[in-house]
Amino acid sequence: MPGAGESEVADLAAAVRDTYRAAEDSLLDVVAEEARRTWQRNLKPDRRRRSEVVDQAQAAARVGAHAARIAKRLEAQAPAVADEVTRVAAERGERAARRELDTLLGRQSRRDRGSAPGRSPELVRASRGLVDALSPAHSSILRTTRDAYRDAVADTLGPYSSGAIGREEMARRAMATLGDQGVTEFRDRAGRRWELASYVEQATRAASARVMVDSLVDRSAASGTRLFYVPDVQGECALCRPWEGEILSADGSLVGEVEVENVLTSEPMTIEVKASLAEARAAGFLHPSCRHGVSPFVPGASRPPTNTADPQGERDRERLRALERHVRHWKRREAAAFDQVGRAQAKAKVRDWQAAIRDHTKSTGLIRQPKRERVGPGVVR
Ligand SMILES: [Zn+2]
Repeated sequence: MPGAGESEVADLAAAVRDTYRAAEDSLLDVVAEEARRTWQRNLKPDRRRRSEVVDQAQAAARVGAHAARIAKRLEAQAPAVADEVTRVAAERGERAARRELDTLLGRQSRRDRGSAPGRSPELVRASRGLVDALSPAHSSILRTTRDAYRDAVADTLGPYSSGAIGREEMARRAMATLGDQGVTEFRDRAGRRWELASYVEQATRAASARVMVDSLVDRSAASGTRLFYVPDVQGECALCRPWEGEILSADGSLVGEVEVENVLTSEPMTIEVKASLAEARAAGFLHPSCRHGVSPFVPGASRPPTNTADPQGERDRERLRALERHVRHWKRREAAAFDQVGRAQAKAKVRDWQAAIRDHTKSTGLIRQPKRERVGPGVVR
């Protein structure tokens, strides 16, 4: 795919996401294990209430210690992760600019000019911004994990039986809820609820895409190209649909009807520059999770797309993401199952939803991404 945008850095964000998903799974395993043990001890009728409370306090402390360890490690790793992600994104932006300009202008630009460029102040700022975006996710882990354990075993402190449903059934339901909700719900500043790993992925992708686009723009400007166009994207976001095929300027100095020189014929040609990149961004273009990007525009050589709508593609992709969420949901239910029966039922559901994914990808031609169905390797202890 040409240009620079979130699609070009999706792999970087996915790698970071997988780290957090592994952490989430490890936390779910520990909470489920402690809750299961708490319940099983308390299903024995001869236990005395006092020791139940002590058991629970100890289990809650173990859960808390595990969560604190994981949160601390993620927080400690974040600056290096952010540095690496932004560095690679900047490199890709430079490379994309060079590659596309070379193709458009039919030339071979010089490769590396000796020493690698140092980290620019913009890059340092972008990296810090990403760390700031990740930080609230870490501080939420301890609280949400403790809450998840507390909620899962809350009813063990109540009366032994609450009418129609027995204690074992209560336990089964509590564990199912735990599997449904996971242990690391995250609320962003706007109050939206996220799976922790999804939030992290989105934040990383947005930050690195911004770096990549800026790096492509800077590199192109250094080669004398200050105009860009918005390539066609399959399964486009509705918000950016009006920008497809439009020409943008790097700094806003060229906006409106502009006369430029056709590089192929050396004749003057008139083009319409829609806005500056900053204006387009302010209007929502390149929003978080945007599928769009920008490519250098060379008058006469670049061919901005026309008539690019693909609403069916977008619907197909949304359906695939929904099916993947179902698979992950039932895998979590499997991990938090109260007993073998529950585990087998959850496993069957996983298989059902995976079959639905196979049908969907077959009929739409979309590529299946097993990684997105995984709930992580679960090896973080
Ligand atoms: Zn968009």
